[in-house]
Amino acid sequence: TSTPLKARPLVLPPNVTREDFGTFLREIIDLVGNGNVEIITSEDQIDDRSYMNPAHTHDPHHVMEQDYFLASAVVAPRNVADVQAIVRLANTLSFPLWPISIGRNSGYGGAAPRVSGSIVLNMGKNMNKILEVNVEGAYCLVEPGVTFQDMHDYLVANNLRDKLWIDVPDLGGGSILGNTTERGVGYTPYGDHWMMHSGLEVVLPNGELLRTGMGALPDPKRPDTMGMKPEDQPWNKAAQLFPYGFGPYVDGIFSQSNLGIVTKMGMWLMPNPGGYQSYMITLPKEDDLKQAVDVIRPLRLGMALQNVPTIRHILLDAAVMGSKAHYSSKSEPLSDEDLDAIAEKLNLGRWNFYGALYGPKPIRDVLWDTIKGAFSTIPGVKFYFPEDTPEDSVLRIRDKTMQGIPTYDELKWIDWLPNGAHLFFSPIAKVAGEDAMAQYAVTKRRCQEVGLDFIGTFTVGMREMLGTLGADHIVCIVFNKKDPLQKKKAHWLIKTLIDDCAANGWGEYRTHLAVMDQIMGTYNWNNGAFLKFNELIKNAVDPNGIIAPGKSGVWPRQYSKVTHKL
Ligand code: ADP
Repeated sequence: TSTPLKARPLVLPPNVTREDFGTFLREIIDLVGNGNVEIITSEDQIDDRSYMNPAHTHDPHHVMEQDYFLASAVVAPRNVADVQAIVRLANTLSFPLWPISIGRNSGYGGAAPRVSGSIVLNMGKNMNKILEVNVEGAYCLVEPGVTFQDMHDYLVANNLRDKLWIDVPDLGGGSILGNTTERGVGYTPYGDHWMMHSGLEVVLPNGELLRTGMGALPDPKRPDTMGMKPEDQPWNKAAQLFPYGFGPYVDGIFSQSNLGIVTKMGMWLMPNPGGYQSYMITLPKEDDLKQAVDVIRPLRLGMALQNVPTIRHILLDAAVMGSKAHYSSKSEPLSDEDLDAIAEKLNLGRWNFYGALYGPKPIRDVLWDTIKGAFSTIPGVKFYFPEDTPEDSVLRIRDKTMQGIPTYDELKWIDWLPNGAHLFFSPIAKVAGEDAMAQYAVTKRRCQEVGLDFIGTFTVGMREMLGTLGADHIVCIVFNKKDPLQKKKAHWLIKTLIDDCAANGWGEYRTHLAVMDQIMGTYNWNNGAFLKFNELIKNAVDPNGIIAPGKSGVWPRQYSKVTHKL
């Protein structure tokens, strides 16, 4: 037996001594090897780095102090068996583990754990294989470290783009698995990622391995697969085709949750539609948002709008093309006149609608006539195809995104301010002009109050299965992370908006670590029945509270909420 490690991490989790940490880390190093373990013992290791080279120790977009949410160590398991062994060891100490896939999670906390001193489990470093791309069934099976960019590159390298596309979010560097379990979105007809997944493989808090949906039904035994470890066994042939299987549909409790560590996921790929045309519709006036949203609702419900379109505020587009200093010498928020001037300079509207048509030309033509006709009822709208816009236009970027080609250009809006960092505030609203205007008015007023520019976008989601539509209104809170006062303002803004929105019946669909408790607190119908049920599940499935305590505001019984309140 080897001797315990004598390491002094900057931070330990609650109720874990340095000796326990040393013993635990020694065992982990013996298991995964030195090269897969980094212990955070010095401030020098806390480096914000960049999107292209993401930090795994903390949140590079820190709205609290830089080291407020800090890992004690970053550990990269090599395979499923390592994950199981680590989980079993963690149980003996109630040691918190925070799984990530790639750890970018930009605007929502990066790789940082909710409980400082947790071990960040870097699932993507070694477990990064595309296990299958099935052309006939139009799906893939991936490990945690496969990014949207990786999948796109694979399709290109194998001459498969004429058959299959992968739906991508605004930036291509995130993992398919992490983004999907967080219920992230993209912008093709397959934009609702969670809806498009089929089959999860999960290491449970007790170390057991689970496959969901049809994955629970074994593939028939064959001589060549006999004796394989469960994680290496082929999946049931329908596991990536039919997501539900039999019995309670448990996939949901592994999304935005802390009930397991996902090791494989099936994902649907979009068949190449056989034709594509992106477009932009500019809306000249601020108030046009109202009519536009009412125009969009029936089009989206009826599927004339085939993809997840966005209505972007002028400053989001302006910020992609230049920093605030590029447009104005003001430090206070820009005025209506300033925004009009920017819109005119960039040949854009105060709001700009981005969508795409999919299918052979006759289909696209009919849809375009329908969409154009409906939008033409708004005075002053203009219609553009990418070739009608400058080389660096946002439409040319969205043209790629809406056909599943990853880009990185949207990173630029973070540089609106010097030392730009950002937080996403993402409330859900019904797709109705009045609601959109009301939500915009609330957020804009609070931005002005605190002295930050309103930068935002409405993403019109796919809700037709429920018979209604919902839109995510994403407010991009950009702040200078080297300016403590601005950080305070950004934090105040998001906290205030959460309460304002809840008072109007709007809740967030996803959030940053710093406000998970607050948001869970707003989902409090009938004496908090929802949180109570989640805690019941958490304590039953993870009795030692080892997986991501505090994630989404769900705490295991070992943690007193009071001591972890921000
Ligand atoms: P991205 O791939 O977009 O950079 P992350 O890897 O940071 O995203 O994952 C985002 C969040 O999703 C994490 O903070 C974590 O809560 C959850 N998550 C990611 N990967 C896993 C996983 N393999 N198992 C369980 N939860 C995960």
